Amino acid sequence: MEGEELVTCHCCLESITPSEDNPTLICPNCQTKNRPETRIPYDRNGYTELLQLADQMCTYQEVADWNIRAQKEQALIRNAYAGLNVEIQTLNKSVASVSGELEAEKKDYKQHSSLLKRFFVQNKNEKVIAAEISAFERQRSNLYSEQVGLGETAQDLDNLIAYVAKYAPKSPQEKALMLKQIKQEKKELNAKKKEANMQMRAIRSEASNASAHAGKVGLFGFYDSSIAAAQRRGIRIDKEEALAPLEGTKEEIESKILALDKCELFVEKFR
Ligand SMILES: [Zn+2]
Repeated sequence: MEGEELVTCHCCLESITPSEDNPTLICPNCQTKNRPETRIPYDRNGYTELLQLADQMCTYQEVADWNIRAQKEQALIRNAYAGLNVEIQTLNKSVASVSGELEAEKKDYKQHSSLLKRFFVQNKNEKVIAAEISAFERQRSNLYSEQVGLGETAQDLDNLIAYVAKYAPKSPQEKALMLKQIKQEKKELNAKKKEANMQMRAIRSEASNASAHAGKVGLFGFYDSSIAAAQRRGIRIDKEEALAPLEGTKEEIESKILALDKCELFVEKFR
């Protein structure tokens, strides 16, 4: 069994120590139940709203409020995840105990039935127990897939929080710092782009030089048109092969610069 982690109240962010006498994780500070008696699946709307809000924010106060709300949503997801763990553990115990019953039943059947009866009459108890086990297992696999979904939402929310931390300022000082960082990153990317352009230009001019000398053979440079055509084709293929990765790099840099331009606009609007 996994050890219980410390839990955070999704309402006031107070820490709660899980214990046997507090199965619903009642918050000592605000009395909120952090684990419902009957579980309601986590609603991803909370995350979707945070995503929309993050896009609309434009004041320092809104950013501060958003961060608190995001932390509460994180706690809600974490608590739902822990709740699923508890349910899965309970199911595991049920499966184990019913499996034990099934074994006992099989043994009993072998000992008390005649060979003929065992062959022709199906054991009803065995079937009932097997059905129970498969029902538990179905339930457990549903809980597992719910956990996978929760894990994905938790990851998305973490990414969003990291983005907001990087690009949504909580003060004029933070805004200035963020803009400075973005400008610096853009400067570095532009230098890399320039470098890629220079390399591409060098490859092109080398290829056109080589092309100009194609077909010249022997000590006196006699021109052979059939050799020239084949050589030019080879030069062109080599050139394209050399350019392809650089073109990829350049495109990647350009899309990063474009993304930073958007970030800059996002940061600029905060007041
Ligand atoms: Zn609380």
